[in-house]
Amino acid sequence: MNPFFSICVYCGSRPGAASHHAQAAQRVGRWIGEHGGQLVYGGGRTGLMGLVAQATRESGGRVVGIIPKSLVQRELADALCDELHIVDTMHERKALMGARSDAFLALPGGIGTLEELFEIWTWRQLGYHDKPVGILNLAGYYDTMLAFLAHTAREGFMSAWQMDLVRVGQDADALLNTLRAAIDAQPRQSELLAQSL
Ligand code: AMP
Repeated sequence: MNPFFSICVYCGSRPGAASHHAQAAQRVGRWIGEHGGQLVYGGGRTGLMGLVAQATRESGGRVVGIIPKSLVQRELADALCDELHIVDTMHERKALMGARSDAFLALPGGIGTLEELFEIWTWRQLGYHDKPVGILNLAGYYDTMLAFLAHTAREGFMSAWQMDLVRVGQDADALLNTLRAAIDAQPRQSELLAQSL
């Protein structure tokens, strides 16, 4: 069966120090599977990445992994993916993740996760895509980053509308429901745009 939607999840290649990170990653994977969705992710078996993929699969969801060939060993490329794309470069990975997804969600992670989040966010502000982007601010994990971003706005380097392009939530189910609603609204928005031309 074709999945109803595809969500790209960016998250840590490590599990994090506290168990609530792992629990949230599993919750996100279960939500995707239970709602007939497809996970698009980095293709590895390590850390939160592995957990979200495993939970998606176990709850009936489809899993698309996209990994550069240089990281196949290091991030333990997951042969259980319904589709595993081994690409030549990191740029190809990110472009394919972007093309295959209807929405993007960042969970807790390190600099790889942050890089992916900021790239897809900046692509959105530039109009390269109009897909929803979310940040799961689990147990305040992203509080200090969000505070810094508010500082950049106060200092005149960002506008409120740029901040508003990202949906921030503390509850995985609620945030996923919001992203799903935004995905479902997209065709109608496009129709409206087409009618107004
Ligand atoms: P991390 O959050 O650092 O644990 O990394 C999470 C994922 O981001 C891993 O799959 C990394 O391969 C990936 N990653 C690391 N660096 C980059 C980068 N420059 N661009 C995109 N993804 C990256």
